[in-house]
Amino acid sequence: MEKIEHIGIAVKDLAASNLLFEKLLGVPSYKQEEVASEGVKTSFFQSGPNKIELLEATNPDSPIAKFIEKKGEGIHHIAFDVKNIVEEIARLKAEGFTVLNETPKQGADNKLVAFLHPKGTNGVLIELCQEM
Ligand code: ZN
Repeated sequence: MEKIEHIGIAVKDLAASNLLFEKLLGVPSYKQEEVASEGVKTSFFQSGPNKIELLEATNPDSPIAKFIEKKGEGIHHIAFDVKNIVEEIARLKAEGFTVLNETPKQGADNKLVAFLHPKGTNGVLIELCQEM
């Protein structure tokens, strides 16, 4: 794995959180994008070399809605940049990690993504992402 690509934060109200993070980071969101297949609206901020992704559920069955119901708003996942997501999925499976989607799928921000089950990673949902 390469560097941390971004940190994902689950929020209830994306418009309100956009204003909050704009104040916090001193820069506006550079991209907002809906990922219909995941039931989320996302908003990305750049902070120096780092990125923050805010995620709001677009329906009650969205993984973000379920996360907020259980845990409230907060850090939802940590995403790592990988050069070859297919190889990385194979490597992590061989190491005993549970990959939630073994076939990479289209995520936000022009990425192919896959997730590791948080049960196997000390409670932290891990996202792998490969630039497309
Ligand atoms: Zn993400």
